[in-house]
Amino acid sequence: MMACSRTWRNTIGFEKAALKVRAYHGVEGAFSIRACYGCIDPDCARACPTGALTPRKGGGVQLDESLCIHCGLCIEACAPSALQWDFSTRIPLPCRHCGVCVSFCPNHVLEMMEVDQR
Ligand code: SF4
Ligand code: SF4
Repeated sequence: MMACSRTWRNTIGFEKAALKVRAYHGVEGAFSIRACYGCIDPDCARACPTGALTPRKGGGVQLDESLCIHCGLCIEACAPSALQWDFSTRIPLPCRHCGVCVSFCPNHVLEMMEVDQR
């Protein structure tokens, strides 16, 4: 999360990352990771009423911040809760699929892979 926010938002902070690591309360050492699946036909983009969020070639989405009206419908539409929200600017934080977070994970939990979504 820190590698992502530093790379793309020029700040080091959990709240600006395009992926999220959550701890399971009450279970020591148990975490879940929410990262973009790179959908070919993304629900988040279909839910966007202004065209701010659009499908990206090869999967995932891209954001035109100038068109965003901060409605949050894209966040609600993402079934795996992978699309993250910037609470200070009230815009989504779409993943760029750059792989930086993968290279910073010391335990090789994250991996970039191509999946057949047909
Ligand atoms: S918050 Fe912005 S990007 Fe998300 S659905 Fe609303 S207008 Fe589209
Ligand atoms: S692939 Fe890049 S943009 Fe996506 S979560 Fe990892 S560091 Fe952030």
